[in-house]
Amino acid sequence: VLDVIVRGGTVVDGTGQPGRRADIGISDSRIVAIGDVKDRARSVIDAEGKIVAPGFVDVHTHYDAQVFWDPTLSPSPLHGVTTVVGGNCGFSVAPLTPGDVYLMRMLARVEGMPLAALQQGVAWDWESTAGYLDRIEGTLAVNAGFLVGHSAIRRAVMGDDATRGPSSPEEMEAMMALYRRGIEAGGLGFSSSWARTHNDAEGDMVPSRHATKDELVAFCQVTGEYPGTSIEFIPCVGPFQNEQMDLMAEMSATANRHLNWNVLVVTGHNGAEVQAKLAAADHARKRGGKVVALTLPMALRLRLSFLSGFALDALPGWESAMALPGSEKLEVLANPITRGRLAEQADQPGPMRHLAEWSDMTIVETFSEQTRACQGQTVRELAARQGKDPFDTLVDIVVADRLQTGFSPPVDGDGDRDWEARVAVWRDGRAVIGASDAGAHLDLFASFNYPTEMLDQAVGRRQLLPLEEAVHLITDVPARLYGLKERGRLAEGWQADVVVFDPTTVRSGPVYSRRDVPGGAARVYAEAEGIEHVLVNGEEILTRGTFTDARPGTVLRSGRDTETVPARA
Ligand SMILES: [Zn+2]
Repeated sequence: VLDVIVRGGTVVDGTGQPGRRADIGISDSRIVAIGDVKDRARSVIDAEGKIVAPGFVDVHTHYDAQVFWDPTLSPSPLHGVTTVVGGNCGFSVAPLTPGDVYLMRMLARVEGMPLAALQQGVAWDWESTAGYLDRIEGTLAVNAGFLVGHSAIRRAVMGDDATRGPSSPEEMEAMMALYRRGIEAGGLGFSSSWARTHNDAEGDMVPSRHATKDELVAFCQVTGEYPGTSIEFIPCVGPFQNEQMDLMAEMSATANRHLNWNVLVVTGHNGAEVQAKLAAADHARKRGGKVVALTLPMALRLRLSFLSGFALDALPGWESAMALPGSEKLEVLANPITRGRLAEQADQPGPMRHLAEWSDMTIVETFSEQTRACQGQTVRELAARQGKDPFDTLVDIVVADRLQTGFSPPVDGDGDRDWEARVAVWRDGRAVIGASDAGAHLDLFASFNYPTEMLDQAVGRRQLLPLEEAVHLITDVPARLYGLKERGRLAEGWQADVVVFDPTTVRSGPVYSRRDVPGGAARVYAEAEGIEHVLVNGEEILTRGTFTDARPGTVLRSGRDTETVPARA
């Protein structure tokens, strides 16, 4: 008797091969039969008319803290994700000096996680990577692997000096020893960042940004000594100079492991920039390395609110007002004089000036009876109808909603030409789909839903690529990049990570804010339509949008659950 049979669906196995009608038999967490399965099973899933595919693999997430307050790692599984990689950008939560709140405060700032959630939802009492991984072993709904983050290691070894400058030879040695222990415990590899947007709670550069090139390369040297490891690194924000291309090539070649960088944004009108960045891969190949861009397969819709003030606080003169406690912020916005001053300051020329095009904002979510009718309308339409100034129009809604109103600037990159340009990049070979940042930026945008967005927009509506190819790009490709053993495809003997979805209805539901984070904060959230069943290691974790009680996820350990994928053959 089998554990599960998924019966009568069209199996799209992740390799890109055409789908075929077949049953899937599952026993003891693995796929044991694909075809006409005659056996009996304890549980049968009717997949007639549905697609049966490998679970989706999201390699760039920040679920490191959420594992403690939400072991389902929602909302990703709602969109078909069964495996995630965390610990990206240098921001793992282990190793840790117990009692040190630096990493917690840094994550709140740099990854937009509510501080109260990190304080109340996470114990912060482990020390090593081993301690962290053991702590969450057996608790998760999905498979999760974690890179060992540079900023965490630097902080653990150097304390306050981590954000003061280069390391001494003794500190380097201690960091390498700690990193080795992290990889030996199962860490998936090394992550780091030099991005100038990565600042800690004090506004100082995060620890990894103080590292020299030699320090980065030393970590990569150690990485290459261990099987099944990878490297993730953000060299900069904006165009690459030769210096960054050289550095990534050297890091990858030294380790003989791939290095992926974040994030390649593709629209219909930035082709030259995209090609220049993809060239980092060619640059690395000539030097014996393998560098890959991670790209988000959808347009990013920012969701602003005065409650969080994120991004708005970058408008000239707005920083202190946006940092005020809610009640005081509400007073500032309600008072015509202080409100007027904010409007004037926002109008100053500067890099964020485009954010102050209030007329272009769309009201995406409201929170009171009197503002409900504004939902879905632009400030321009509302201001014209009410005969009011656009900023006043917006702020009146915000005040009525007690700051919670969600509003979005126009989306760049959601037209047919944009999607065509993206599909070309997915097929290029130098980029891999990922970059969701799921688990981070909880108040700013939704991109955890990229699998359902992509299946809906690129396959369903625009028919820019076959379903089989789309599935391949979000399962097998990222799984092979990280060397995930027996995951990313539906094949006999492989792990039974399976998603059953309706190809005619699959799509992301609307993005909204959901107040379910410890400490009472909200996060952006979206359910999916058409995702019928999600199985991890042969157990159903989600049935039509509802999580079961099963927590069959494996904490993926390097060497055991991953195999070495050399950068050069
Ligand atoms: Zn990140």
